[in-house]
Amino acid sequence: MCGIVGYIGDRNSVPLLVEGLKRLEYRGYDSAGVTVLEDGHLETRKTAGKITALEKLLGNGEAPHGSVGIAHTRWATHGPPNTQNAHPHTDCTGEIAVAHNGIIENAGVLRTKLESLGHRFASETDTEVVAHLIEEAWDGKLEDAVRAALRQVEGAFGLAIMSSRDPGTLVAARKGSPLLIGIGRDGEYYIASDVAAVLAQTRQVVYLDDGEMAVLTRDGYETFKLDGRSVDKEVREIEWDLEAIEKGGFEHFMLKEIVEQPETLRNTMRGRLLDEEGTAKLGGVTISPAELKSIQRIIITGCGTSWHAGLLGGYMLEELARLPAEVEYASEFRYRNPVVDENTLVIAISQSGETADTLAAMREARRRGARVMGIVNVVGSTIARESDFGIYLHAGPEIGVASTKAFTSQVVALALFTLLLGRLRNLSVLQGREIVAALRRLPEQVEQVLGLNDSIREIARTYKSAPNFLYLGRGYNFPTALEGALKLKEISYIHAEGLPAAEMKHGPIALIDENMPVVVIAPNDNVYSKITSNVQEVKARGGRIIAVVTEGNLELDGMVDHLIPIPATIDPLTPVLATVPLQLLAYHVAVMRGCNVDMPRNLAKSVTVE
Ligand code: GLU
Repeated sequence: MCGIVGYIGDRNSVPLLVEGLKRLEYRGYDSAGVTVLEDGHLETRKTAGKITALEKLLGNGEAPHGSVGIAHTRWATHGPPNTQNAHPHTDCTGEIAVAHNGIIENAGVLRTKLESLGHRFASETDTEVVAHLIEEAWDGKLEDAVRAALRQVEGAFGLAIMSSRDPGTLVAARKGSPLLIGIGRDGEYYIASDVAAVLAQTRQVVYLDDGEMAVLTRDGYETFKLDGRSVDKEVREIEWDLEAIEKGGFEHFMLKEIVEQPETLRNTMRGRLLDEEGTAKLGGVTISPAELKSIQRIIITGCGTSWHAGLLGGYMLEELARLPAEVEYASEFRYRNPVVDENTLVIAISQSGETADTLAAMREARRRGARVMGIVNVVGSTIARESDFGIYLHAGPEIGVASTKAFTSQVVALALFTLLLGRLRNLSVLQGREIVAALRRLPEQVEQVLGLNDSIREIARTYKSAPNFLYLGRGYNFPTALEGALKLKEISYIHAEGLPAAEMKHGPIALIDENMPVVVIAPNDNVYSKITSNVQEVKARGGRIIAVVTEGNLELDGMVDHLIPIPATIDPLTPVLATVPLQLLAYHVAVMRGCNVDMPRNLAKSVTVE
């Protein structure tokens, strides 16, 4: 999820590696490190915190010197972001070093097996198993040992690997996390997770595809499939400038993060779905099934977008796990005198894991004896540390201030927890399997929705000057309406309100005229027929309607001004598919109004004040 740089050539690698890491800083990270081959052995320097801290460490006359090296910026997924868990990681002998992006799904099993063979682990990361697996498989050549090791690894990886036992070689391997080779001056080669890292040195790169690896020496590089078959790869010339690369070619981080959602949802679900059993496996939910069963009531708390995800979680838990669930703004909950006890589970949701109001609410709940589960994106954050157990989103760093990919991952994380709890309580295996299958289809369906970008841009053009918007939804899509309205407010500064569609007639309907765009979220769910009546009510008063519907819906076609068709899914997951076009709508309106989309006025990414 974060950054990798590797170098082999004839210059001292350290300044080149640190320069490369700096180019990757924009991605966000929590710790950094380098390993260099010096006088025949590996020297590693690493530290929690920023690259300046690493530079300080290297500047104290302690900088190793050598012309082969790897470096990493970490964005923790397994184990807190401290110095010990920073990459690179080595084997027991300190002769094999690994920098890794991604998640090794079967790290727990592999670690137990390796420990029983006598391997000693120095970190809590999933990554370290790779170094020990290579040590175990060693047969004289780094590339062969890597191949043998990776046969046992499940999950996603971008890897840069080196060894003092095979000193003139660097190995790169990719599955699910991006990786490329940079072709430098004569006899110089790089590995990088992102072309920004090598751009100052070269514009010639070879992108590895999933399931491929590369072996780099000073004489050149070879590319293979992971099984050893050789593959020919095209050398590409990079034409983008640095700024364009940082945003992945997109104009804004927000758009990049919207488009990333198929991938981030895959990462949230990675290794967590059990198809046969029709349930979820959540490694971070460390309480026993019996204790989970003893939960009698759930309170979900959060702020802003996280609170919207919480509302959806509340609906899901009530419907599918048959548990009473209340959803409360963290800022309100903390000052109430809430009735909670040890059979109450409080779920605290926060992208950053540092949201002050949510943290205070969760501390208050714990003080009163409730158990607390955190749902956060940033590993090792305060909420993660202070929760009794939790679920990480694994959505990668979110840089745009308006949350997009974290929201959809929060909803999916809540769906996974509902599935787990539901199956322990009342859901049949068949119902469980249906939910698992729907979750599996979701990333591809989001991809399909992203294909509507051009038509959504046109809708944005029509309404970009509107002073107000209404968003209407019912059931699971009432929170979608709230989230759609919040996105528009946050980044375009247009006043927008989200309402339960039927509430409109109790007051807000007075606002409707031909200048009021109304976004109606009306997929084919159990309240569809009800919401069509609300559409009629708006139409009758001359309102302009943009409707998000299930594809194939012809009924609303003649009735509304614009249709946004999304694929069919089970009711609780419709908000994931319906939110994506609303994110795009808000984005395009904001861009057309000349707003600073990534850093909207008056807002902060992580709200650490009350
Ligand atoms: N899963 C690894 C860790 O937690 C890699 C994280 C990353 O991609 O930066 O150390």
